[in-house]
Parts: sequence; C-alpha cells; structure tokens
Amino acid sequence: MASSLTAALIVAAGRGERSGQSLPKQFARVGGVPLVAHAWRALSAHPGIDRVLVVIGEGQQDLLDAAIPGADFVIGGDTRRDSVAAGLDALAAAGDVARVLVHDAARPFVPHAVIDRLLGALDDAAGAVPVLPVADTLAAGSAPLGATVDRSALVRVQTPQAFDLAAILSAHRGWPAQREATDDAQMLRQTGRAVATVEGDAMLDKLTWPGDFAAAEARMRGEFRTATGYDVHRLAAGEELWLGGVRIPHDKGLAGHSDADVALHAITDALLGTIAAGDIGTHFPPSDPQWRGADSAQFLTHAADLVAAEGASIRFIDLTIICEAPKIGPHRDAMRDRIAALLRVDRARISIKATTTERLGFTGRGEGIAAQAAATVEFSGV
Ligand code: MG
Repeated sequence: MASSLTAALIVAAGRGERSGQSLPKQFARVGGVPLVAHAWRALSAHPGIDRVLVVIGEGQQDLLDAAIPGADFVIGGDTRRDSVAAGLDALAAAGDVARVLVHDAARPFVPHAVIDRLLGALDDAAGAVPVLPVADTLAAGSAPLGATVDRSALVRVQTPQAFDLAAILSAHRGWPAQREATDDAQMLRQTGRAVATVEGDAMLDKLTWPGDFAAAEARMRGEFRTATGYDVHRLAAGEELWLGGVRIPHDKGLAGHSDADVALHAITDALLGTIAAGDIGTHFPPSDPQWRGADSAQFLTHAADLVAAEGASIRFIDLTIICEAPKIGPHRDAMRDRIAALLRVDRARISIKATTTERLGFTGRGEGIAAQAAATVEFSGV
C-alpha cells in the first residue's frame, strides 16, 4: 500500500491534576465541549488531514466515547513519550500514513493557518514545529531571583508538531528508555535531522492552570454588538409602497431616491452600525444616479456581506415601523420571510413591530413613514 496519507495524533492520555478539574483535563469542558473534542474537530476539518487518532489513558474509553462518539483511538502508556509511541506504532501498522501531526489535547484551539504552514514546511524537512517569541523576562531560580536569561535567543515551541512518519518513528525507537524528552521535535533533532520552524499562534497556548480554563471560556464566548438604525421617507401619491422588502397595496407610496423602503434602510443602517462602517449614504450616495429607483434589498444584502466579511454573524433584528396606515399586521410575516431570506437567517431571528403616533406629528398626519431597527451580531471568539 502506498504511504501517502497525513494523520493527526492527539495525545490525550494525561491526568491533568494541575488544572483544578475533577476530570482529567482533556475531558473537562470549555464552551460546553470537552477539551479533546475541540482539537479533534479542528484537525478533522482541515482538508490536508486524512485521519485523526486519539491516544487515551487506560480506562478512558467511556470518557472519549462521550466526548467524540466513534473517534479512532489507541491506549497510551505511563509517560507522554510512551503514549506518542503507541500512536505512531498504530499509524505505522496501518501502512498508508506518510506524515503525522502530533498534538496535545490541552491546546484546544488549532488555527488552520498553522497547519498549512506546518504541512508546507514538511515538504523540505523531516519535522516542523510552530514557535513564538518569548515576551516575558526569563530568569533562573525563584527566591532569591537568579540571573536573567537572554530571551532573544529563545522561542516557545507549541504543538501540533509535524513529522515524516518514518523519521519520527525511528527517533522514538532509538531514544534511550530511561531518558525523558520534552517533546517529539527534540527526539527528531537527536537523530541529526533538522527541524523547521514556522510561525505559531497564541491561540495554541496550552491550558494548564485553572485560570487558563476561565480565559479559554471567555475567548469562546465571542463578542456581541448591537447597533441601531433610523429612517424616514415621505408618503406621496403615485408611488408604489415598498416596506420591509414587500410591495403593499396602498393609495400612496414612499418617495425617495431608491425605492424608499424605509424599513430596509433602517435595518441596513443598524447592520452597518455593528461594524462601524458608516451609514447607507456612505455606501450608496443619493447623488449617484445608479441608485435611482433601486431595489433596497441590495443595500441590505451589501450590509450583511460587510458584516460577514468582518467575521460576524447576524443574531437578531428588531424592527419598528411607525405609521398610521397601512396596517402592518397583515404583512408582518411576509416581511419577516423576505428579510430573513435576504439576510440568510432563520425567520425566528427577525422581529417586526408597528406603532402609530396617536395622529401626532408627520407620521400621525400620514405625511410619511418612519422605521427604527436594532441589529445584534456576534463575532465568534474562536
Ligand atoms: Mg432612506
């Protein structure tokens, strides 16, 4: 069988006593998901990785099955080195794996860009590791403080570490039984092979202490932003009435440069507000003849595209239409469906309300229609 596949090995056999969790830390939950499942999902989803194998401790099968139903696994050994060796042996026995990424389950967030860099580096080296510069001052000893170490000569080495399977397997097999290794790259270097370095990522930092879990939890929560929009258009005879993306039969319509859909304009401004991208006039100047009579749906979808490009997802839209007539109730569901379709969200995320102003003011006199909207978006944390 030709060896051409790339596998990922997740080392999840530890006990993790320092983390303050009642479970071994690789099975503790972050964002409602067991730690090991985060790394498993990220590695499985990378198009360059064909297979993911998890190395667990004796008696941890039930925990793994609950965390990742059906995950491929092998039982590791007493030390990390024994566990990695067990995984490498299993991959070698399969006969079709050429390259392997060895990853610690305690690093749940695995950016695909780092995997890309590692696999690229592996084309010219037997091993590659992600590294980051050391930001803190390093010194020997603890009390009293010892001599400072020159940090400019040092890097922090992360995982996943990528290897030619045959090269790392022979490094493991040749390593002295009584000596511990801090990582697999050290073992490959011992065989005289060069280990390439690629840029790491702070997202890959290991969760070790109780505070690390709280920080990871906060990182996963992401950021919510809510912004508002407001618009008014004049009612005039001889115009079509477009409201909420729907044509409504009425004796007057809204006048304006575009189709004057005051509801879509308010939502567009609210969405632009969530990413601080100006207002509808910034993107579609009334002075530009190409927007004369334009379908306001394109303003709304443009704003939604800008929000998506910033990495945010639309979570909720709440719209209030202010007018004496027409009655909004009979058209509410059609508007919700249209706006949901334009924003590519579920209808349950679109709320439409209507009110009058008790015949007071310009809306009360039927001279115009006003709309206000609030948009809530979420920037995912990871
Ligand atoms: Mg407008």
